[in-house]
Amino acid sequence: MERPIAGNYGHGYGTVNPVYGAAAMSAAPSAPPASMFDTVPGYEGTMAGGGGGFLPPPMPTVPMPLPEAPSQPDWQIPSISEDRARVALRTYVSSKCCYSSAPVNEGVITNMETFNTYRYRLETFTESRSSEWSNEPYTAQTVDAGVQPAPTPWQIATKPPTFFQDQKQAIKVPYTSSVKNCHTCLGMGRGPCTTCAGAGNKVCSWCNGTGHRQTDDRCMHCTGRGRENCSSCSGQGNRQCETCRGKRQLLVYINVNVKWTTEKADFVAQQSSGLKVQNLESVSGKQLFQDSQYMLYPVLGFPDVSVAQASDRLLKEHLAKYAQTSRILQQRQTIELIPITKVNYMWKGKSYVYFVYGNEFEVNTEDYPATCCCSVM
Ligand SMILES: [Zn+2]
Ligand SMILES: [Zn+2]
Ligand SMILES: [Zn+2]
Repeated sequence: MERPIAGNYGHGYGTVNPVYGAAAMSAAPSAPPASMFDTVPGYEGTMAGGGGGFLPPPMPTVPMPLPEAPSQPDWQIPSISEDRARVALRTYVSSKCCYSSAPVNEGVITNMETFNTYRYRLETFTESRSSEWSNEPYTAQTVDAGVQPAPTPWQIATKPPTFFQDQKQAIKVPYTSSVKNCHTCLGMGRGPCTTCAGAGNKVCSWCNGTGHRQTDDRCMHCTGRGRENCSSCSGQGNRQCETCRGKRQLLVYINVNVKWTTEKADFVAQQSSGLKVQNLESVSGKQLFQDSQYMLYPVLGFPDVSVAQASDRLLKEHLAKYAQTSRILQQRQTIELIPITKVNYMWKGKSYVYFVYGNEFEVNTEDYPATCCCSVM
């Protein structure tokens, strides 16, 4: 390995550490080799750093629950007053720094129509598991690989999850822990310093390696040698191994990573107001119906047929998507009524439109006539 460190500068600096120097260029921590891992029944294909070891759940043995008809919803259709519509627009306009309030104050509302719509939402709360080889410095932890067969991935107990709260938990699988030599430092506990590539010194930062200051004086910092001690390794050229933290050995074991996820699907019944459906994503509605079960049945007898059809379709989709790869723990379906009011108004002899929608009275308008205050001064 060539390194132009010694020779030019002399004084004993730049001597490559005979033990660690040769490995200096491969000092970055690397993934452990596959040969480091034992074969554990039930965990074949498990790799280090994730990316493998996907663990499908065993087939469910619980019988399907009986269908339950939803209770009769409350059919009060909310509507908003002209005052409320005007206040909503005023709030919206004042949130835009360059919009003039003249159209709000002077405009005359000519017509208000309601285009209320339904949103059906399905949430499926799933648990998925994957396995991964992990390691940590060996500090006399229990070593139990092969003492008895390891529990299968889905036999491992977890803390009970709270439904519809996404969480993760990593669990060390019992009877998979063994001790191996650290692969990064090959069991030496120390490795070459990455800052100085094992040399123990580096170019002097005061004189940039020349040994002189601008005035031709000898550099005081390196006393003319042009190099200074590496501060990262205190001039030793090597440092404690980060993988084993100097312990030379690693405890190697399998982790099962448990992940709880809420999968969501929305359906918004068609409405002809002209307001784009994406606008409704940011608002809430009046909840008409909610049902939460281990496995849901489609909504029955809902007046809007498209909502009942969406419930049937999305439940089938979720089952096909998630039942194979994860365990479904709970499902929840909700129907909301989202109020949409289309307001037509006249200003300076022309007619314009805006929408007020959601419990939050959000406003959307694409033709507001005074979007730059300068133009109406
Ligand atoms: Zn210097
Ligand atoms: Zn160093
Ligand atoms: Zn090490």
